[in-house]
Amino acid sequence: MTDTEHGAPRTAAAFYEVYGAEPHGIWAAPGRVNLIGEHTDYNDGFVMPLALPHTTLAAASPRTDGVLRLHSGGAEGGIVELRTDELRPAAGGGWAAYPAGVVWAMREAGLPVGGADLHYDSTVPTGAGLSSSAALEVATALALNDLYALGLAPRELARLAQRAENAFVGVPVGIMDQTAAACCTEGHALFLDTRDLSQRQVPFDLAGEGLRLLVVDTRVRHELGDGAYAERRAGCERGARALGVRALRDVSLVQLPESLDRLSGEPVVQGLVRHIVTENHRVEEVVACLDAGRTRAIGPLLTAGHASLRDDFKISCAELDLAVDAANAAGAVGARMTGGGFGGSAIVLVEEADAQTVRKAVMEAFAAAGHPAPRIFTAVPSAGARRVR
Ligand code: ADP
Ligand code: MG
Repeated sequence: MTDTEHGAPRTAAAFYEVYGAEPHGIWAAPGRVNLIGEHTDYNDGFVMPLALPHTTLAAASPRTDGVLRLHSGGAEGGIVELRTDELRPAAGGGWAAYPAGVVWAMREAGLPVGGADLHYDSTVPTGAGLSSSAALEVATALALNDLYALGLAPRELARLAQRAENAFVGVPVGIMDQTAAACCTEGHALFLDTRDLSQRQVPFDLAGEGLRLLVVDTRVRHELGDGAYAERRAGCERGARALGVRALRDVSLVQLPESLDRLSGEPVVQGLVRHIVTENHRVEEVVACLDAGRTRAIGPLLTAGHASLRDDFKISCAELDLAVDAANAAGAVGARMTGGGFGGSAIVLVEEADAQTVRKAVMEAFAAAGHPAPRIFTAVPSAGARRVR
């Protein structure tokens, strides 16, 4: 039994306490780390997330009166009560905007979704770059899919969840996080082409190789809603326009030097373009390594990806750089920041035998620099969204 299934009885009991009845069912959706392919998902590029054992559980029952009631063990303020026929995209809706947005997106798509009572419990840290928002959305989407017999496939649920976050919550995220939460499978990383949405499960057997993937949550919290993300996104679009391509995905590594020449008046855009083009290439190289059973060979690609995010895309921060540098200095196979940037988490690939040494080195480096202690845990490639009872 996984931790998620262990948590289900507690979530059922919490639902009963809040709503005074047993839930109709319980659904789970995981957080994720992205192995490689950062900020490529809004450039029609490649990404490669894997699901974490950390999940958001949604206990839910349908309602016949069109009322939507939302409650989370992880949020203050009690039950949020809304009418499904009065849902409108609006800024500042708080946490409930994520699940309410899913209901809105489904109804906008003409799907027969009515009211529901929902209670959430989560072990996905919020704002840590591990995608608690997509876990919340996808757990909601899967619950409604079953409660209202919509018959949607996981990738269709991911699209609706993304639409909820883009158009209802107002955060312009790409499709990666929701697809990871909906589609990942145990023991694999998900190679996703964000242009045609084709996907492939790539075996990622860390334990079998004597390797470990550590996640270092720096506890520095980012705000995706702030301007930096939208700024990078707009810069990438400007670069694509200037180069006459539909998206930066269409610039190959071979074309990069000439493309950078054409952007010579715009050093900031040059950096963005260089990151996206080299990052897409790194994803393809990581896939080739894993397909060839050369798992250790991805280490230097991860570290090169970090340098690119730090120097070209300029979204790292002191704590992320320190985590990566300290881990590599202590003998890690490779390391990089993961997620949106400006805080959140780094991932570190280590030999199992070195895991303790590397973990200790990172903790000591943070203490010496006067940063709060990071939270470090092992990422085991886990299952995507599912019904748990
Ligand atoms: P990330 O997705 O990287 O964790 P985001 O800023 O995208 O960070 O999403 C975090 C937000 O999602 C939280 O501030 C909160 O509003 C909402 N959220 C996520 N999980 C939960 C939960 N279990 N209960 C209530 N709100 C949640
Ligand atoms: Mg998020």
